[in-house]
Amino acid sequence: MLTIGLTGGIGSGKTVASDEFARLGAEVIDTDLLSRSLVEPGQPALTEIVALFGPSVLDATGRLDRAHLREKVFADPQARRELEGILHPKIREAMLERAAQSTAPYVVFVIPLLFETGQQALVDRVLLIDVAQDVQRARVAARDGLDATQITRILQAQTDRATRLAEADDIVHNDAGISDLHAAIAELHRKYLDLARQ
Ligand code: ATP
Repeated sequence: MLTIGLTGGIGSGKTVASDEFARLGAEVIDTDLLSRSLVEPGQPALTEIVALFGPSVLDATGRLDRAHLREKVFADPQARRELEGILHPKIREAMLERAAQSTAPYVVFVIPLLFETGQQALVDRVLLIDVAQDVQRARVAARDGLDATQITRILQAQTDRATRLAEADDIVHNDAGISDLHAAIAELHRKYLDLARQ
């Protein structure tokens, strides 16, 4: 089964792109959604996270307080590695299980932090949705209502654009309109169907 890892920085257009892949008939698997379901109450990963970080990472209803956990690991690389040690093998297992169940011609895994988490090896090809930083900032500000400082903080924590561009197999530049993005995805879809047939 041909597997594509779709990635890109915040607000680059991953959702618009992956929705179009799904519409065209690819199997789209969102790793953010998978990782959220893995930390639902009663899931083994949540028990392990609470054992590691203490009950303060739970909210009043016993659900994982993701914002609080994010703050805890933001400035603590060791804690972040331990959290990833719990989550990554489980996410990987869930991804492969979902892919194995699919009857689509190929699979698109949406992995926002693909480079940051070294998941290149998990997929056959890496597809980058690339966007100029000023466009990216404007779209994130319009969508999320964040100010410039907040956006800078997020961008600084993500892999820089040059590294992403150097490491991707396929690149879609998403600086123009939505219809241009859709056209680029349609072209890639044809390419991936060809590759899947080989
Ligand atoms: P995140 O990483 O935050 O989840 P994302 O990469 O999934 O973001 P989208 O949500 O797809 O990005 O796009 C970010 C915003 O930019 C959305 O409001 C979307 O509608 C808009 N957008 C995406 N592509 C274009 C485009 N080509 N032209 C205009 N607006 C766009």
